[in-house]
Amino acid sequence: MRVATAKGTGRADRRAWAVGQTGGVTDSEPLQCSAKDCRADARWALRWNNPKIHDADRLKIWLACDDHKEHLSTFLARRGFLRDAVPVDEIR
Ligand SMILES: [Zn+2]
Repeated sequence: MRVATAKGTGRADRRAWAVGQTGGVTDSEPLQCSAKDCRADARWALRWNNPKIHDADRLKIWLACDDHKEHLSTFLARRGFLRDAVPVDEIR
């Protein structure tokens, strides 16, 4: 049986996909920034949805540190995907 694979090769894509599969972020996982090559602790959860490939009620989550919140949210907002950004404590 073929298993659907996440699109994209970026670390952020894979990480967001994994978060989506588990339905949330748990305390046992280190909450790390989703930006490429960044290992900082995540401070923000960016919730987004691509209406072309996701159901409207399905939210994906990218985690961001303070330094990358702007970069990642701008990336998503420019494509019209960003729903909101909340402190990471709100999704625990
Ligand atoms: Zn970062």
